[in-house]
Amino acid sequence: MNNNNPLNEQATALYDVAIVGYGPTGAVLANLMAECGLSVLVLEREAGVVQLPRAIRFDAECMRVFQTIGLLPRLRDQVSAAPGMKFVNATDELLIEWQRPVTLGSHGWSDCYRVHQPDLEQALRERLQERAGVQVLSRHDVYAISEQVDHVVLSYENMRTGELLASRARYVIGCDGARSLVRRLMGSALEDLQLHERWLVVDLMLKRPMPELGDYSIQYCDPQRPSTYICGAGERRRWEVMVMPGDDPAQLNTPEWIWQRLARWIGPSDAEIERSAVYMFHSVVARQWRRGRLMIAGDAAHQTPPFMGQGMAAGIRDAANLAWKLRAVLAGEAGDELLDSYESERVPHVREFIEGAVRFGDIIQTTDSDAVASRDASLSRAIKRFRTPEPVLGPGAHDGAPLGLAGQVTPQFRLADGRLMDDATGYRYLLLCRPEIRAVAAALPGPALVCRVAEEPAVLAWLDGLGACAALIRPDRYLHGLARATEDLEPLLFRAFPSSPALRRSYCP
Ligand SMILES: Cc1cc2nc3c(=O)[nH]c(=O)nc-3n(C[C@H](O)[C@H](O)[C@H](O)COP(=O)(O)OP(=O)(O)OC[C@H]3O[C@@H](n4cnc5c(N)ncnc54)[C@H](O)[C@@H]3O)c2cc1C
Repeated sequence: MNNNNPLNEQATALYDVAIVGYGPTGAVLANLMAECGLSVLVLEREAGVVQLPRAIRFDAECMRVFQTIGLLPRLRDQVSAAPGMKFVNATDELLIEWQRPVTLGSHGWSDCYRVHQPDLEQALRERLQERAGVQVLSRHDVYAISEQVDHVVLSYENMRTGELLASRARYVIGCDGARSLVRRLMGSALEDLQLHERWLVVDLMLKRPMPELGDYSIQYCDPQRPSTYICGAGERRRWEVMVMPGDDPAQLNTPEWIWQRLARWIGPSDAEIERSAVYMFHSVVARQWRRGRLMIAGDAAHQTPPFMGQGMAAGIRDAANLAWKLRAVLAGEAGDELLDSYESERVPHVREFIEGAVRFGDIIQTTDSDAVASRDASLSRAIKRFRTPEPVLGPGAHDGAPLGLAGQVTPQFRLADGRLMDDATGYRYLLLCRPEIRAVAAALPGPALVCRVAEEPAVLAWLDGLGACAALIRPDRYLHGLARATEDLEPLLFRAFPSSPALRRSYCP
């Protein structure tokens, strides 16, 4: 931690939150913080959106976050529902099928969407520009952070002018990617989940329609050359090919090498190479996500091989988990310890996805002939139907598993007035009640909590299935807890808002 006096400290401005890094995690977090009415400084060293071939899929939960921050008008023409993924062996026998229905599911959205990450990031930035209270400084490189008693000083360089500057914020969130400076300054090491493999990733733009390539993603689990095909947004098609021990490093990533690798499917007369990159895929989780006023999110806190398409999605979930907690703490409605629940809740959740991607990696990347034979024998005998996991949060700001489904993401219903439930709620708590407790519920409106008496058969059936007369849903759409009877309501709200007696009193008659 650098404790030198900062140069040119802009001592007057004290932001609620400073975000280091304006990738998708930082951009979503900034939008959510602005949604909460907080003042936000975003510092980013690059001039524009990174153009590398990266995220190409996001899931329904991410779509709900985009819905919350008002991104849908911009996304409508950019994204489309994507069916699932098949795993085939060297002789094209099906090993695993991961179906992802394109019909609307329990979140009110399809299970999975195609996206072009730079377009998504651009949309997030344009949305942020419409908001008050946010300052974004691109071409500004953060090089030091000094934590004071009640704020943090960030030192950074204006890379256009070389000027050294400083700003103050109550909290700093490092959304600064895999090589995160904030993580290192926090002294947080990475736990290694044991998958590190080099792959070349190439995005092509089709010159002509090629329906024969198909909509499904395909994992070619071929020990000669494990490869992946993914149908991207619009005319974009992606191939990922594993780098093999005999590959000549000087040839990798040249057009000739790429076209040779893809010759089985496509050639230069069909498409042009838009961009390509060689990556080392990693699987790691930071051991510490918070130190005092410093926190990390997104790739700074965890990295996964892309086999489940969950890296960016996990960063978006981090942002959704963290923003409402920061708001509550900064507003004095919750104690600072609420922020500890960010790490305790998110770590088991993200681990489940990374471990799933590592298991997929073990299937896809196997090259040893005995291991391949036994994999093919066991999987082709009984084709595995894989389902998208919905992990439970670790212990934290919810009632935990013994009281029903607490810590689990909740469905999004279509309301009787035609709106989707999240649109009617905003980024706030939702207390969903059965009509019998209408009178109690009527006393509950407040700025942090929306109370809704369920009329819709699907909502009533959901509450019945949980054996609940009311369900308290957090702003990130995870279930805080249930009231089985009217008298459980006050204790439920007490558990949710422990440091806010005034708030509780106004909610509990
Ligand atoms: C081949 C591939 C395919 C993928 N496919 C998917 C997919 O389908 N779905 C999915 O969900 N995810 C996918 N991912 C993962 C996804 O791209 C990343 O998880 C995501 O980009 C991480 O976002 P982030 O904002 O956390 O970090 P980044 O996008 O890395 O952003 C970090 C930002 O911080 C800035 N920064 C760093 N240090 C500083 C500093 N000191 N000062 C100022 N700025 C700084 C950087 O310039 C950068 O802009 C894929 C990744 C790869 C490589």
